[in-house]
Order: sequence, then structure tokens, then C-alpha cells
Amino acid sequence: MESYDVIVIGAASAGLSAALYLSRQNLRTLVISKDIGGQALLTNEIENYPGFENISGFDLMNKFHQQASKYGTEYVYDEVVSVTRDSDGNFSVSTNESKFRTTALVLAFGKTPRNLNVPGEERLAGHGVSYCAVCDGPLYKGKEIAVVGIGDHVLQEAVYLSSVASTLHIIYTGSRVDKDDENYKQLVSDQKNKFYLNSVVKEINGDKLVKSVKVLNRGINPPSEFELNIDGLFVEMGYIAKSDFVKDLVKLNSSKEIITDKLGNTSAEGIFACGDITDIPYKQAVISAGQGATAALSAFNYIQKKKGLRSMNTDWKTVKTDKTNVSVKLS
Ligand SMILES: Cc1cc2nc3c(=O)[nH]c(=O)nc-3n(C[C@H](O)[C@H](O)[C@H](O)COP(=O)(O)OP(=O)(O)OC[C@H]3O[C@@H](n4cnc5c(N)ncnc54)[C@H](O)[C@@H]3O)c2cc1C
Repeated sequence: MESYDVIVIGAASAGLSAALYLSRQNLRTLVISKDIGGQALLTNEIENYPGFENISGFDLMNKFHQQASKYGTEYVYDEVVSVTRDSDGNFSVSTNESKFRTTALVLAFGKTPRNLNVPGEERLAGHGVSYCAVCDGPLYKGKEIAVVGIGDHVLQEAVYLSSVASTLHIIYTGSRVDKDDENYKQLVSDQKNKFYLNSVVKEINGDKLVKSVKVLNRGINPPSEFELNIDGLFVEMGYIAKSDFVKDLVKLNSSKEIITDKLGNTSAEGIFACGDITDIPYKQAVISAGQGATAALSAFNYIQKKKGLRSMNTDWKTVKTDKTNVSVKLS
């Protein structure tokens, strides 16, 4: 079984930044991730990442990936399904395909789109059921499609999908919508868009591809069920933390986010966390990247301590009286 100094789970803003810092400290670093880029891949325009006036999420993440790779980060593209602590204090990390050992762990697995949890969804995911309008919208040019969700985000995605579709059904799960919202006004002013307030998807049908969805309109008395014949369904139900596989190792909050301190320490020794999966507010790429660097440096210090070596000063400009702290050049 391959052994690493640090395994990073997740390869997006947080995980790739952590990997860059870890590899530059000559630590044998493995990133295990389902993809490269995470949520940033869902947007074509990032205008608030310092250094880039406007960049697509894909291009930004590609740059992160290239930079971490330059210093020797290794990658495995798979899903982590379990993490256990071994008797020597190190960790075993299992994916669907393999198993690895590591001294320290950086958890950077972000947030995952919330499922509808209705019959047909899992089977037809990727076959007409999509969780990314920006990524998959162009595949439905001139087709009849539906989008389901709630809040500003679904209205924003619906405006985009409406520009692609022949007919767009907007299944809005909330009982109220802001009628002054510019996106809402734009959507209802175009006859090709059909808006269903207070409605939910009950079932997704189709053999190999999506053919129809069963919708329950709860906004009328009595509630009524009807079927929409469509070629694709976009699910925009927000994002959740899928952290169950580490729940026995680290403390989570009520949203299943990993609780960390300002140095990226979790409740478990040797496990660090960063980015959207943590309880730290303001979920943004630049914030995740900063947290990734912090978690990496804390992981480095943990390994140094384990090896009986000096740890890095947390503030390299401040002279510490604590003799265990010593400045290590980062640049
Ligand atoms: C539509 C949209 C637009 C956005 N626009 C902006 C913007 O303009 N500016 C901005 O700053 N932020 C924006 N954000 C937010 C930003 O994308 C996130 O804050 C950032 O991506 C969080 O990075 P992260 O590394 O913490 O996690 P994520 O991006 O969520 O990535 C998590 C990574 O972990 C992997 N992973 C998850 N579970 C596992 C597992 N079990 N095993 C292995 N790998 C796993 C995933 O595949 C992924 O690579 C946007 C988000 C969305 C959805």
C-alpha cells in the first residue's frame, strides 16, 4: 500500500492550494478527488479572484492544478469512501478502487449539489438529469427542458436555460417568489417559460434518457399531479456537506460542516480541513484558497513535530520567544 506524508481529499480552490503548499515543503502529497476544480467548474465567469479581472472557473482551477503539479503533487481521480485511524496514529484512506496510508490528512472536499431523492434520479443522472446548467445547458439547445429549485440561484440559472431551450418549465419549490426580482420578471415576460410556483418533482421517468417528470403542484387546493414531457431536468436545489464518511473522526456542526479553528485544525489530531466543507463563513474561492494554505502549513507543522523537528513560525515576521518556533521561508 502506498504511503504519503499528507493526503488531501478534494481538488478545488482549497485542496489544490493546500497541495501547492505541502509539495513545496517537500512533503509527499497525494490529492484524491472526484474531479479537478469542484464548484468553480460551474461558473464561466469569476470576477472576484484577485489577480484575474475575469476568468472562467475551469481556467482558474487549471492554473491551480498546474502550479501544484509543478512541485510534485500526485493525483488519484476517485471518490474517498472511508477514512480510519490506524493503531500507530496514522490514517488509512479508502477509495472505490484503492487504499492509501498517510501521516496527516487535509479535508478539502467542499460541497456537493443537493439531490431531489426521488425515483429515477440516480438512474438518470448524467442521462438527462443535470446538476450544472452552465456545463450541460448547451446540450439542450432547442429542446424542451425543466429546472427545479428555489431562490435567486434557480431564477438566475433559469434565465440562462431559457436562452437555450425551446420551452422551459420552471418548477419552483417555494411558496413565494420575489416578483420584483429582475430574473423573475424576465422569465415570466417570455411565453416559452412556464412557471409552477410551490411545486415539486415527484418522479423522473425514462428508459435510457429522461422522457418526463411527474410534478406535484402544492399551490392549488386540492394539490394536483401532472406529467411534463421533457428532454432534460436541471436540479438546482443548493449544496450540502457530504461529510458522513468522516463523522466518527472529526466534529461536525448541525449543517455537517467540519468544525475548525483559525489554523485549520479539526477536533482530531493530524486531520486538518479547509474551504467550503468547514464551518468558516463566506464560501468563496479566494477564502477557500487561503484556508487551504493555512491547513497545509498546520499539517506541515504536525509532521515536523511527529518527526521531532522544529515547527514553522505562524507569523514569520514576529520574533517569538518560544524556542520551538522557527521561521521557514515560504517563497
Ligand atoms: C455556480 C457557482 C458560482 C460561483 N461563483 C463564484 C465566484 O464568482 N467567486 C468566488 O469566489 N466563488 C464562487 N463560487 C464559490 C466557489 O466556487 C466555492 O467557494 C469554492 O469552489 C470552494 O472550494 P472548495 O475547494 O472548498 O470546494 P469545492 O469547490 O466544493 O470542491 C470540492 C472538491 O472535493 C471533491 N470531492 C468531494 N467529495 C469527495 C470525496 N468523497 N472524495 C474525493 N473527492 C471529493 C470534489 O470533486 C471537488 O473537487 C461559486 C460557486 C458556484 C456553485
